[in-house]
Amino acid sequence: MFLDDDLPDVSEQTFVVHAGRPARVPGAPLNSPIVPASSFHAEGDAEYARMGSPAFEDLEAAIGGLERGSATVFSSGMGAANAIIDQLPPQAIVAIVLGAYNGVTQRLEQLASEQRVRVRAFDVTDLEAVRAAAEGAALLWLESPTNPLLDVADLQACIRIAHEAGARVVVDNTIATPLTQRPLELGADYVMHSVTKVLSGHSDVLLGAVVVRDDAELAAIRARRTLLGSNPSAFDCYLALRGLRTFGLRFARMQESARELAARLAGHPAIARVRYPGSSSIISIELAGGEVAADRLCRSTRIWTYATSLGGVESLLERRRRAAGESHAVPPELVRLSVGIEGVEDLWEDLAQALER
Ligand SMILES: *Cc1c(COP(=O)(O)O)cnc(C)c1O
Repeated sequence: MFLDDDLPDVSEQTFVVHAGRPARVPGAPLNSPIVPASSFHAEGDAEYARMGSPAFEDLEAAIGGLERGSATVFSSGMGAANAIIDQLPPQAIVAIVLGAYNGVTQRLEQLASEQRVRVRAFDVTDLEAVRAAAEGAALLWLESPTNPLLDVADLQACIRIAHEAGARVVVDNTIATPLTQRPLELGADYVMHSVTKVLSGHSDVLLGAVVVRDDAELAAIRARRTLLGSNPSAFDCYLALRGLRTFGLRFARMQESARELAARLAGHPAIARVRYPGSSSIISIELAGGEVAADRLCRSTRIWTYATSLGGVESLLERRRRAAGESHAVPPELVRLSVGIEGVEDLWEDLAQALER
């Protein structure tokens, strides 16, 4: 991957370590200073931080490079999602994958209840259903794998079908990450991230990003951020970029542990079903003992932390349906495991002792 004029093409792992840094000149710092300014001296590139700030630029360069496009960072993943949704014309039809992130689904349902958009849901594993949903739609909202059902889409086929129907395509790439798939290269119009999750990786910031392919799209997205006021803070951008430096390392470790744990969980008598798409750091399990057993598991671990969210260095687990807004497509006995970077044997022993109870 292309870094700058002085460096050869490099892998993503190398890119995240070196992207978004000051020029290599004697005496320059290796990391950009944090820029906590709301206003800038007039007649320069930056004027007022809501309209754009050097504080965002390094992180945008790094995320944009990973996704092979131009990134705009937001105050959260939902801030990023809403910048895309906000561009829809009145009465637009939005087709959204069943089991998409519940915040996005709820936001679209809210807009539908106010007669602003019309929403259709489709099963992403059924291409005929995708075709029917895309007919007449302005936007097709994809997430693959979905969270927490972990259904996997044939992204390329879905994108082609949507474009044939004249719909634009968003891919929420939070769970898969650009190390697994790069939707812009497959033809998607927008990639969306909750940077809160594995990209920043330390459960200490809320951040989002939208990545697009051309300057006109970039300007349109930035204009939404400016007027919606969904900018991130300078400190959060710094923390996210600091976290992103180790993204390659963390994600590889999490994937490796997830693979091992998924294999062991599959043979466990307390578990009725393991959902694991093979490439992610997330595993969803369905407890044979139902909802009660699922709640007991969440309260019985000593290393795994019972908390929502995913993608951090610490392993988390949660029964998703305990949240009122979660889709009813998610079984009540489903527990989502977000595998962190702890020793895999410690993670297994803790899960095994909790499952014994
Ligand atoms: C967390 C998440 C979001 C929302 O992001 P926030 O940063 O919480 O606003 C969107 N999509 C997916 C897949 C997520 O996991």
